[in-house]
Amino acid sequence: MKYIDEFRHADSVKRLAETIHTITQHTWTIMEVCGGQTHTIVRYGLDRLLPSAIEVIHGPGCPVCVTPIHMIDAACQIAKIPDVILCSFGDMLRVPGSEEDLLGVKAQGGDVRMMYSPLDAVALAHAHPDRHIVCFAVGFETTAPAQAMAVLQAHEKQLTNFSVLVAHVLVPPAMEAILDSSSNRVQGFLAAGHVCTIMGYEAYEPIAKRYQVPIVVTGFEPVDILEGVYMVIQQLETARHEVENQYTRSVQRSGNLEAQRVVNKVFETSDRIWRGIGELPHSGLILRESYRDYDAMQRFGHLMKSKNSHHTDDSECQSGLVLQGQLKPSECAAFGTQCTPDHPLGAPMVSSEGACAAYYRYRK
Ligand code: SF4
Repeated sequence: MKYIDEFRHADSVKRLAETIHTITQHTWTIMEVCGGQTHTIVRYGLDRLLPSAIEVIHGPGCPVCVTPIHMIDAACQIAKIPDVILCSFGDMLRVPGSEEDLLGVKAQGGDVRMMYSPLDAVALAHAHPDRHIVCFAVGFETTAPAQAMAVLQAHEKQLTNFSVLVAHVLVPPAMEAILDSSSNRVQGFLAAGHVCTIMGYEAYEPIAKRYQVPIVVTGFEPVDILEGVYMVIQQLETARHEVENQYTRSVQRSGNLEAQRVVNKVFETSDRIWRGIGELPHSGLILRESYRDYDAMQRFGHLMKSKNSHHTDDSECQSGLVLQGQLKPSECAAFGTQCTPDHPLGAPMVSSEGACAAYYRYRK
């Protein structure tokens, strides 16, 4: 299959790994930002093909994992309200809140439905004028355009029975928070190709300059990842710190301008709490004033208990350290014992992009 087979070709992977061995003279630590890249690295053992001088650590790029616990609690409470249908991506259903998860709420009779696109939720609202449809909007810049389109469609159709529980987060502020941390070890980044397909990579250029860190926009197949690693190491070994684009088959510097226009029309940036990490300035999206009628928190906040409380995570789960690359999943004491995909203590063990799930699936 075009764009798949050639990027999984064993000979190309082997050649790239050998080239990386040849150019590596020093010890380096690089972080892949995206959970999809984490799964490729762990699944194909790409980190084990690299010189021992290169450590690959995993970043906060799993949107399900960083959705704050109080938003999951809010989704659970909204799903219990009579006449509400709560639509969510499947990954979110088993993510533990402070007391329960959405699948548990569904088992108790809450109307929780799995959606494949936010536009499914709009269609549901159109088909069920007697019910109120709440769309649990989770994700990075990648999924924000579809969510914005859903709000615009609902507005166009004059639907009054549709709202959005917005938990969207943005990648660049998280990278800056990692680089600002006193315990930071990251010397180079593989940036997430799909995020840059939408947003481009201009926003990374001041980060590369300010922190003197190479950032390479990278795809998701084994050859992509190793090419991205090669480009980062080449920069590090020659004392350069630029933004480069490995994922040229999908990403342009300015991104998808039409998608950005739609997102900017509906959303504005806001401070956001990241699960396990804390509050990061300007790292989330909220609905603009002109679309606040579609804000589920505005509509249902008064019905929810503890709407202002921000529960902290269970202390057993060290997902905050995993998401900041300070702990490998297999180094967590609960990994594979108290915490498994059947009995997850934290979101990284249930999300399809979670680092703990990747280690459990491919390395346990
Ligand atoms: S293994 Fe489980 S408990 Fe440990 S960090 Fe991952 S999700 Fe949390």
